[in-house]
Amino acid sequence: MIRPAGFRGAAFGDAANGNARDDGRLRGRLSNALGIPSAWASVQQVHGGRVITVDEPGLAAEADGLITVERRLPLTVATADCIPIIIEGDRSVAVVHAGWRGVAAGVIGSALETMRELGDSPRRAAIGPSIGPCCFEVGDEVLAAIGGFAATTIAMTQSVDLWSAAEAQLRGLEVWRADACTVTDPAYHSFRRDGTSERQVAVAWLP
Ligand SMILES: [Zn+2]
Repeated sequence: MIRPAGFRGAAFGDAANGNARDDGRLRGRLSNALGIPSAWASVQQVHGGRVITVDEPGLAAEADGLITVERRLPLTVATADCIPIIIEGDRSVAVVHAGWRGVAAGVIGSALETMRELGDSPRRAAIGPSIGPCCFEVGDEVLAAIGGFAATTIAMTQSVDLWSAAEAQLRGLEVWRADACTVTDPAYHSFRRDGTSERQVAVAWLP
């Protein structure tokens, strides 16, 4: 588990922490470690651009980001290569699930906009472990959808730097990056590496 320095309530779990979104026993264990309630809020992740506001735990509608102004209501997304992003404002917190489709669909901007609609100011964001430019081999259509950020994999094929694309969309915020690739780091589940249905979680909360 990674706790980004300078954040009030942000944690990125690894494979050892398991899918605490879907497994109550694992959620209880991680909640105890973090000192937070074990009833979390989540969404049905669909690789889109929609972000919703929640005020109670449980599985909410189809969306790829959730925001709350409620204290001690943990928010989570589960990922295995897609980017988990935690955004802290003065009075709200958001967690976002962003693969290349989500980045292209503007899910990060949607989260920032929703926080501002709530009268809050987004201050800082954390980009968690996810597939890196070292491994994210893509075709021209993905590069075109992201609008640049071309890179090269360790196999010298074309890739996209989704971390930097996400950071660019977080303009004006202080950005923390794990720069940890889920494909190359065995501490994490990776769909691209293993075709796994296993996931790790990101969790964010207002203390
Ligand atoms: Zn990699």
